[in-house]
Amino acid sequence: MKILVPAKRVIDYNVKVRVKSDGSGVELANVKMSMNPFDEIAIEEALRIRESGRASEVIVVSIGPSQASETIRSGLAMGADRGVLVRCDSPVEPLAVAKILKKIVEKEKPLLVILGKQAIDDDCNQTGQMLAGLLGWGQATFASRIVVVDEKVEVTREVDGGLQVLTLSLPAVITTDLRLNEPRYASLPNIMKAKKKPIDECLPEDIGVDISPRLRVLKTSEPALRSAGVKVKTISELVEKLRNEAGVLQ
Ligand code: AMP
Repeated sequence: MKILVPAKRVIDYNVKVRVKSDGSGVELANVKMSMNPFDEIAIEEALRIRESGRASEVIVVSIGPSQASETIRSGLAMGADRGVLVRCDSPVEPLAVAKILKKIVEKEKPLLVILGKQAIDDDCNQTGQMLAGLLGWGQATFASRIVVVDEKVEVTREVDGGLQVLTLSLPAVITTDLRLNEPRYASLPNIMKAKKKPIDECLPEDIGVDISPRLRVLKTSEPALRSAGVKVKTISELVEKLRNEAGVLQ
């Protein structure tokens, strides 16, 4: 079976994000970009399933500007087999991403699509769910364990207060949580090999998807600054401050 892994190019998680002065969004110029960390986890899991002999091919797909091919290359360097870049120069909302992915699923016919649970730039946590809805496939979100057995997949989900285990028939959509695995680093020989792996490219209009935005961003702003904390020397000083300054003790 084939596994499709959508991977988004986002601002690197180590970068301190700055809001544009006109509040229209965040600054992307000269900012380090990387693969969304949850998508690295998704690729790692797909590779482990392939290495266990239960999948034959891992395809990485990214929707974004031409530089998103670098994101795909990082996935190929981890070990994925080939890539698909759907080139869009403007931001694409989760619904449009899900519609594009549906078209790619119809073409590639994977039995499993493994996405990240959320992209760390817009924190939408919508694409996997929308894709499963559009395809009419079963879905298991926030996966911390995935076991493929014959025509089924058993997924352990991280839910409030514990774990939930689901069995889904294939084909299915799964989204990854942080504890699913620890992604491998790409080795130098694999980085070199990845340069020769194929990446197909197309535009949303080639596959008949309208990506015009359905949402209007009214304003983007920095979180409110927190005032600096105070160190106290003794417990009695702490109690005194909690009582007289914070008003949390009577
Ligand atoms: P979101 O719903 O935006 O939080 O994204 C959830 C997941 O959908 C991500 O972790 C990716 O696996 C996938 N995804 C979202 N946007 C894109 C994109 N532009 N290109 C490829 N995959 C995407």
